[in-house]
Amino acid sequence: MSSCVHCKSNNSENWFYCRNCGKRASKNKYSENLWIRTERGKRTDVEFSNLSLVDSVNEMVKNKEKKYAQGW
Ligand SMILES: [Zn+2]
Repeated sequence: MSSCVHCKSNNSENWFYCRNCGKRASKNKYSENLWIRTERGKRTDVEFSNLSLVDSVNEMVKNKEKKYAQGW
């Protein structure tokens, strides 16, 4: 059960904005992360995630080749 950090009214449905006082109902970790990301710049973030995606795909291919070599 969660409640609004401003007016302490019940927010069991986890609304982002309190339905009683209209303010943000909770200090949301996700939105804080979003802020940090936006400050650092979206482009860097996207490039980074693309790179790690390529890396993990390469890793998968390597593992597959290894398995084939072992007679899988
Ligand atoms: Zn409230």
